Amino acid sequence: MAAAARAPPTAAARVGLLYDERMCAHATPDGEDHPEKPDRLRSIWRKLNAEGVASRYGLSLASARRLRVPLLDSRCVALKAKEAKDKYIASVHSQTHIKLMKDISSKKYDSSRDKIARKFNSIYFNKGSSESALLAAGSVIEVAEKVASGELNSAIALVRPPGHHAEHGEAMGFCLFNNVAVAASYLLNERPDLGIKKILIVDWDVHHGNGTQKMFYKDPRVLFFSVHRFDYGTFYPAEGDASHCFIGEEAGKGYNINVPWEHGKCGDADYIAAWDHVLLPVAEAFDPDIVLVSAGFDAGLNDFSAYLHGILQLLGFAQGRIVMALEGGYNLRSIANSVFACAKVLLGDKFTFTSPEMQPFESTWRVIQAVMLYASSGSESDIEDVDELYGTVSSVDVTQAAGDVLGERLLKMKLDEDNLAMKSISSGSSAEQLPSDSVEEHSKASVVASKRIVDLSFTWRSVSSRIYVWYASFGSNMWKPRFLCYIQGGKRGRNKLFVCFDLGQADGMNIPCCGSRDPSPPSETMWKAVPHRLLFGRASTPCWGTGGVAFLNPEINYNEKSYICMYKITYVSCNYIYMLLILEFKQSGIVLGGPDLIRLSLFNRLEQFNDVLFQENRLVLEDGKDGNIESPDSPLIGSSEVEFMATNKALHLEPIKDSWYSNVLYLGKEDDLPILTMTCPSSDIEKYTSGELPLAPPSKTYAATLIRGLVEGKQLDAVEAAGYINSAAARVL
Ligand SMILES: [Zn+2]
Repeated sequence: MAAAARAPPTAAARVGLLYDERMCAHATPDGEDHPEKPDRLRSIWRKLNAEGVASRYGLSLASARRLRVPLLDSRCVALKAKEAKDKYIASVHSQTHIKLMKDISSKKYDSSRDKIARKFNSIYFNKGSSESALLAAGSVIEVAEKVASGELNSAIALVRPPGHHAEHGEAMGFCLFNNVAVAASYLLNERPDLGIKKILIVDWDVHHGNGTQKMFYKDPRVLFFSVHRFDYGTFYPAEGDASHCFIGEEAGKGYNINVPWEHGKCGDADYIAAWDHVLLPVAEAFDPDIVLVSAGFDAGLNDFSAYLHGILQLLGFAQGRIVMALEGGYNLRSIANSVFACAKVLLGDKFTFTSPEMQPFESTWRVIQAVMLYASSGSESDIEDVDELYGTVSSVDVTQAAGDVLGERLLKMKLDEDNLAMKSISSGSSAEQLPSDSVEEHSKASVVASKRIVDLSFTWRSVSSRIYVWYASFGSNMWKPRFLCYIQGGKRGRNKLFVCFDLGQADGMNIPCCGSRDPSPPSETMWKAVPHRLLFGRASTPCWGTGGVAFLNPEINYNEKSYICMYKITYVSCNYIYMLLILEFKQSGIVLGGPDLIRLSLFNRLEQFNDVLFQENRLVLEDGKDGNIESPDSPLIGSSEVEFMATNKALHLEPIKDSWYSNVLYLGKEDDLPILTMTCPSSDIEKYTSGELPLAPPSKTYAATLIRGLVEGKQLDAVEAAGYINSAAARVL
């Protein structure tokens, strides 16, 4: 049954608290400000001391002072850090990685340390990094061992650098060693005597614990549960594997659970919903021997209800054996208050839990349902068939899969018009800033509420399917690294939350590309020649500077032969979850079905072709509000556009008619998939012909990129390629 029925530890709980100033030695090399700074630990420590976490004798702060009980001697059991032994770290990290992390602070790296740091994603090193990293990993081992052995009931390890982004052979996202993973592996593999056979890792840092997930992806002894911001794969670390579809592999299948938020507005209510409807039933079924919490406090929650509620629930499992290890959290006051609040819960202090005023977002219920369906299906392939989605709407009974309560909550949510109104006011955002699903669903809800409903049933399904297209490039995108900038983001990483990093993908970039929302590389590359004339106009681009811009004459001319490099990418990717509503108005006889359901099902799309189109036409604004990337709301190319083009060969996109690449051209089919490219409209060709627009032959650097593409693509050798480009540039139109 629910955790409410379980008794939390009594007030006499022995709670370990590990703090060690030595972990503050890891800092930026030249003292520049950085979110992951030593003061994070100090601010928490100061807070816990100032509050005394009451005294060891259970006295109030005032009484403790009166009786001169030293405040530092808190109710928690103070622990000191210990360095992790290599062999323990080696169970989750490569030897090369361990060696580098151990040596990076030594003298021999004095001149190269910064350069090495820059090779990683969001990493810095200084002379204290090695020791801090070893202590952080060792400290989590230390507390986990004491909790596992029963010496302590629970413990909090105040450690840094954090760990959950660190991968087997790589430091990333401020993390050097994966502290929690090292400790979990230690308990399972080094200390069988402690009897820990199953470990639940709860990662509530706002970022996905990519490292931890990978380390135990095939291991059924570790159930990794991560709730994090996902934003359709664009939020750090922006790897697709943070989605709910990643449920583990082989023996570990079903032991990896991601609850990926669609947007950054999720708050306490949403987290609590995730605990109640996913974490709790899952933990119940898994029945762990110990719970390790990757406790990041960077979710920006308004109060601590979600953390406290989470801890309280978890205390109901594994006889309350909980180990909390600090991960992220960069607001000094907020992390100090959050850790303090969690410590009090572990200590058994009474606290009244007030339900947050806000209701979970509609998308939260949808995400939770998808997670539960995946978790219960245990098979991705079962639900991957998009034809099935279009063909039928009767599918999995969600209410059964996700629990009756959830079904009821969702039903209530749908019918309660006030919910969303209240949410949009209290979150301080206007309705149009809400994710579109909420708004759309809300209008649906109004329809429902305005009629008398006899029966309302929900059927939904989750799909992870992609619809592909060949994007044909004839200009500098023929060189793959250049093209990849539009998919994976160029020059600077796409993840602005953290320090910018250089992907170094393509030289000559003036303005960084933001990449596609779906950063998966093209699944295939293929070359072809087409009967269209290649020409060069426009002397410079905002993105790439001076050099000439390639176009393909939309008119077919069988005397011409231009090379195209085709990348297989998506133009629709229902990479997410869609709820299909079946509204049966039995009394009035109204049945919504067919097209209505399909329209609803395509709310969320990740489409690479459209993202390339946006970027080529500079329709994507970077550094928008909140430092996020802003792109147009709706895709320009969808199924009906592709259908139109198959007959009409070209489509001039009215909404972007003044942009250079506003004309999408249909170049036939390959493997039964349409080949599309983007070029100038015919009206521009007329202007080039008449001289109203000047032609602009490629500059040396631009020509070099074109040649590189053709040579690396094995179409022509360097001399032939130069000849091909020169001839296209020299001939009159
Ligand atoms: Zn984080």
